[in-house]
Amino acid sequence: MSPASRPALPIRPSSAKLPAYAEPTPARANPRPGTRANRAGSRPLFEFEVQATDGPARAGVLDLPHGQVRTPVFMPVGTQATVKTLTPEEVEGLGAQIILGNTYHLYLRPGHDVVRQMGGLHGFGGWKKPMLTDSGGFQVFSLSDISTIGEDGVEFQSHIDGSRHLFTPERVMGIERALGADIIMAFDQCPPGQSSRELATEAYERTLRWLARCRTAFDRIVAEDGDAPRQTLFPIVQGGIHADLRVASARGTLASGDWHGIAIGGLSVGEPKPLMHEMLDAVRPELPDRLPRYLMGVGYPDDLLEAIGRGIDMFDCVAPTRNGRNGAVWITAEGQVNIKQRRFLTDAGPLDPECGCYTCRTYTRAYLRHLFVAGEGLSMRLLSIHNLHFLVNLANQAREHIITGDYAGWSRAWIERFAAGKAAAGKS
Ligand SMILES: [Zn+2]
Repeated sequence: MSPASRPALPIRPSSAKLPAYAEPTPARANPRPGTRANRAGSRPLFEFEVQATDGPARAGVLDLPHGQVRTPVFMPVGTQATVKTLTPEEVEGLGAQIILGNTYHLYLRPGHDVVRQMGGLHGFGGWKKPMLTDSGGFQVFSLSDISTIGEDGVEFQSHIDGSRHLFTPERVMGIERALGADIIMAFDQCPPGQSSRELATEAYERTLRWLARCRTAFDRIVAEDGDAPRQTLFPIVQGGIHADLRVASARGTLASGDWHGIAIGGLSVGEPKPLMHEMLDAVRPELPDRLPRYLMGVGYPDDLLEAIGRGIDMFDCVAPTRNGRNGAVWITAEGQVNIKQRRFLTDAGPLDPECGCYTCRTYTRAYLRHLFVAGEGLSMRLLSIHNLHFLVNLANQAREHIITGDYAGWSRAWIERFAAGKAAAGKS
């Protein structure tokens, strides 16, 4: 069907129900002794339980101090202690269970001590549910002018004012403690995409040495604070696009401590997608079932489903909000399209007829196009709500299909339809 002949689709009334996200918490018969139970009183903190598997894909639940996270999960990125243009209530309303904060940005502005004084990120920004902070490792290598990478740490210049700073594993642990997220990430050396074997080796080996220092510093801070556990430290597997280095990194990481989760970093940074899949397939056999697996910086919708099918549980990416601010939106049957296209000028249908988000329930494509073309701030907000809900809901759908046991077939059909829509849009 050509775009011009598309029939106008009715906007669903705003009273239409959002998909249900709440699921009952299965009772745990034997909480691990010595760990504090969460608010429900029945599950130990930081415990991850795999509830269903379908091939390598897993559906699980992770208990954190600020609530429970059902996986697979997409985590919206709140770089500056805000998911750009949205209030915490709106982020929660679109179904997000956990969001990110960026250590590099918040350290530079307003400063982690300011955030600490204001009650940590939860008190400062008003988001009440679980949070995760990255370690700044990716940003110091991608955003700033680095003067030195040494064994001690990374000396860099702020991208804001050129001021000089030093991130060491110990310093980053102190900053992430001040920010107060439920999950904090170890400081890692993230080499550029498709790095040479030599550089990828240097980076993963240094990341392992820094991990030991992060662990020591984190344990010392927790002991000094003397309070109940309220944060857990996730290590990061590096190794570039070299499968044997990825395996070595994973083994070294797991041998170096008892973790509550593990992340895979340094992927989706420009390498061909089959290489990313190859790296995930190489690492997976090394990872114990009991740990949630977080693929950092992914994804786009098809990347999310491909990685879930390879056993990944957690994701984050700035794409939904960044794309939304640029007018790029995801539509289930059409792939990624730009709302400014002229074919939307008088299109009375919803943005994505298959989406239940506030934007799709309430506005026409014609209005959303007008807002974007006119440069209205509301456009950024409405398109960000849609794109975020799209990924959050896609992860929820994946979870349901893992539980049902038809994940492989469903995800393959979903990806093919999304890609076919994208290809058709490219021809028009
Ligand atoms: Zn929508």
